Amino acid sequence: RAKRVGGNRVEPFRPAFRGTGTDRLQLETDLRRAIDRKELSMVYQPIVRLADGEIAGFEALMRWDHPKRGNIPPSEFIPIAEMSDLIEPLGMFALERATSDLMDWERHTGELPVFVTVNLSSAQLLSSELYNDVRAMLTKTQCDPHRIKLELTESVVMENPEQARLVLAKLKETGISLALDDFGTGYSSLAYLTRFPFDTIKLDKALVNDRSPKRSVLLKSVISMACGLEMKVVAEGIESDADAEELGKLGCDFGQSYLFGAPLGAESVQRLLKERFPLTKRA
Ligand code: C2E
Ligand code: MG
Ligand code: MG
Ligand code: MG
Repeated sequence: RAKRVGGNRVEPFRPAFRGTGTDRLQLETDLRRAIDRKELSMVYQPIVRLADGEIAGFEALMRWDHPKRGNIPPSEFIPIAEMSDLIEPLGMFALERATSDLMDWERHTGELPVFVTVNLSSAQLLSSELYNDVRAMLTKTQCDPHRIKLELTESVVMENPEQARLVLAKLKETGISLALDDFGTGYSSLAYLTRFPFDTIKLDKALVNDRSPKRSVLLKSVISMACGLEMKVVAEGIESDADAEELGKLGCDFGQSYLFGAPLGAESVQRLLKERFPLTKRA
C-alpha cells in the first residue's frame, strides 16, 4: 500500500472562472496588489520515493486567497499573471518563499534530505533578470542550490529554444536542478531531453493514467530512456497502489499525487518533517 503522508485532503472541485474581459482586468488589478496584501501563499505537495515511501521533496504550488472570491486556483491566475507583467514578481515570490520555508524547516529539524521544486513560466525564463535574481536569492538565503529544482514545461522551453538553452545552462552552473514538467502532454519531443540540461522528468498524469493497453510499453521506454540519460523520473497523479507498484518496478524513482498526499501549508510540512526525520534517526 502507498504510504500516505500528512493526510489526504483533496481540495474541492471549483469550476473554471468564466469571467468577462472586465472581470479579467479586475482580477489583474487585484493580483497586482496581492503580494503586498499577503493574499498569496505557497503550499507544498510531497514527492515520495516509490521504493520505500519516504519523502524526497516537495513541489511548491501557489495559492491566492482573494478577499472577495476566496481561493482562486493557479490555473486561473497564473495565465493572467503571464499575460501581464506580473509573472516575474509572482515567480520570484514563489522561489524566495519556497527557499526560505525550506531553510526554516531545517532550522527546526537540522539538515534534511529533501529538495523543493518551484514552477517557472516562460516570461521568467526569457527575462534577462532571472539568472541574477536567482543568484541574489541564493546568496541572500545561503541555501544550498542543489536543494532547489526549477520545473519547466516543454512549451516554456519551446517558446524560444535558443534563449532557453543559454539561460538553463547558466542556471545549472549555479548548482540548481532542472525538471521537465508535464512530460507526455503536448509534443514531447525527445530532443528536449538531450538538448537541455534537465536532471528530472515529470511524467504527466495523463500519461501515467493512460488506460490503453500500450501504456506499460510507453512508460517502460520513457523510464528506461530517462534512466539511460541519468535523469530521475517523477510520476504525477498516480491514482492507485497498483499503479504505484508497477511504476516502481519499471524504475520510476518518485511519485507525486493525492494518493501520497495533498499539498500542505508550510507549518504542516514542518510538523510532518519532524515526525518523518527525527534527529535521533539520523547520523
Ligand atoms: P503542475 O506544475 O503540473 O502541478 C501539479 C498540479 O497537479 C497541482 O495543481 C497539484 O495540486 C495537482 N495534483 C497533484 N496531485 C494530483 C492528483 O493526484 N490528481 C490530480 N488530478 N491533480 C493532482 P495546482 O496546484 O492547481 O497547480 C496547477 C498548475 O498551476 C501547476 O501544474 C503549474 O503549472 C501552475 N502553478 C502552480 N503554482 C505555480 C507557481 O508558483 N508558478 C508558476 N509559474 N506556475 C504555477
Ligand atoms: Mg510543476
Ligand atoms: Mg506537472
Ligand atoms: Mg500541469
